[in-house]
Amino acid sequence: MEQRIIDQIEAVVGKEGYSVEPAVLYTYGFDASIFHNTPDIVVQPRTTEQVSEIMKIAYANKIPVVPRGAGTGLCGSAVPIKGGIVMAMQRMNQVKNISVADLWVDVEAGCVYNDLNNELSKYGFFFPPSPGSAEACQIGGMVATNASGMRAVKYGATRDFVLGLTFVKADGEIVRCGTRTIKDSSGYQLARLLCGSEGTLGIITEVTLKLTTKPKKSASCLCCFKTVEDAGRCISAIIAKPLIPASCELMDSVSINAVNKARGNPLPDCGALCIVEVDGETDEVIDRDLAIVDEVANEIGAVSVIPTKDKALIAQWTDARKSVMTSLSALKPGCSSVSLADDMGVPVSQVPKAVTAFQEIADRYRVTIATYGHASDGNLHTKMVLDPTDKDEWERGIAAVNEIFDVCIELGGTVTGEHGVGISKAPNYMKERESELSSIRAIKKAMDPENILNPGKLEQWEGTILRNLRYPCQGCM
Ligand SMILES: Cc1cc2nc3c(=O)[nH]c(=O)nc-3n(C[C@H](O)[C@H](O)[C@H](O)COP(=O)(O)OP(=O)(O)OC[C@H]3O[C@@H](n4cnc5c(N)ncnc54)[C@H](O)[C@@H]3O)c2cc1C
Repeated sequence: MEQRIIDQIEAVVGKEGYSVEPAVLYTYGFDASIFHNTPDIVVQPRTTEQVSEIMKIAYANKIPVVPRGAGTGLCGSAVPIKGGIVMAMQRMNQVKNISVADLWVDVEAGCVYNDLNNELSKYGFFFPPSPGSAEACQIGGMVATNASGMRAVKYGATRDFVLGLTFVKADGEIVRCGTRTIKDSSGYQLARLLCGSEGTLGIITEVTLKLTTKPKKSASCLCCFKTVEDAGRCISAIIAKPLIPASCELMDSVSINAVNKARGNPLPDCGALCIVEVDGETDEVIDRDLAIVDEVANEIGAVSVIPTKDKALIAQWTDARKSVMTSLSALKPGCSSVSLADDMGVPVSQVPKAVTAFQEIADRYRVTIATYGHASDGNLHTKMVLDPTDKDEWERGIAAVNEIFDVCIELGGTVTGEHGVGISKAPNYMKERESELSSIRAIKKAMDPENILNPGKLEQWEGTILRNLRYPCQGCM
């Protein structure tokens, strides 16, 4: 990067507000995906005004800017594939105002999800989406990916809580959009447009979120089955009962084996399982709902059902479920678990069909695929275990995930239920959104005429996703 640009940036954020150290730049070239590319500078602003001044410099000089939260994204959306500026938001991390009476909180974009909930819990409220990365991911990153997690089935995704936000446009203009009211019909919902925009339309600096009360009681039930199809049928049957669980996590045998091997057998050994969480205000509600889950699981033919209120046991199950991704990397020497088709969404009733199809595709392409996820909202994770230095394994893997995406779209689903598009899902996202693409491109052009905000991602990706890999893969681009 030219020294004159670095000098201009330093004039805005000071010496401590940016870095061009090679080690820092290399680190900020990663997120939690399979991709990497080194930026030219990392800037850590403290205020919306500083973000605005940096954007004016970038706009005048046509420098790419990639906003970055905690870098926990799994599809490459925070990787600066065109270099330029990484705008790292962690210094803007304050919970600014909480109005319990009006049911809103104003929070800076760099605030970590768990830190916000620790504050809200003092008032008996919470922000429920609960992504698996809750300890690290930031509110801005969650809004930009419309993140959610295990509680989405009952409480909704991030988008459902965004009342308004402040963002900085490509040219540096500061825009406050939305309201602090529960209802708002005042025209275009720009705050909603920013949800899921993955840093391509503006830099979010502050968010107003709707508050909701935290239920006083909860309990869980671990249901084991012979097949993953039975586990899928159990989830649809619980919902059809009707019972909307607080969460319901599915794991297939590959995931169970990986976790048991890596973590000393925290889970029963079976063909598939679901961990169903119920919540509510009284013990009566909890007991009633646990009994419904128990009854449905037995009707489906569960091999064992363990309902419990024991917090330590529930924590053990939750921890086991959260460790699937890391445990998979320990499954085969020299192999890693990689995120390719990692968070598809299908209608809940189609979960059994989808998981059965995934296994058939895995067998046909001779790849190891683990299926797990927040299946009660139809959100399924498939992680592939492969040797990331072997081009042939990547190519078979990509052929398999392309078929997985096709199955999900045919079943009325989406290529991404919560992690976003980034790079890894870009080609299939364009297939899924074919009829919207010209509108999407027009919106991008209107908001970012010089194409400096996270360029080259989503609908702009061209060709194979086998490039900018973080692994040394012979023959990959
Ligand atoms: C172990 C693990 C478990 C996970 N579990 C879940 C899960 O259950 N549910 C789920 O939804 N996701 C999950 N994820 C994915 C990831 O944590 C989420 O997508 C999260 O919302 C990303 O937040 P982040 O702060 O890390 O954003 P980053 O990864 O830094 O960025 C993600 C995208 O948001 C953009 N962005 C970030 N901040 C801003 C901002 N202030 N303004 C504009 N754009 C911005 C970036 O440019 C990028 O496009 C998981 C990831 C890991 C590693």
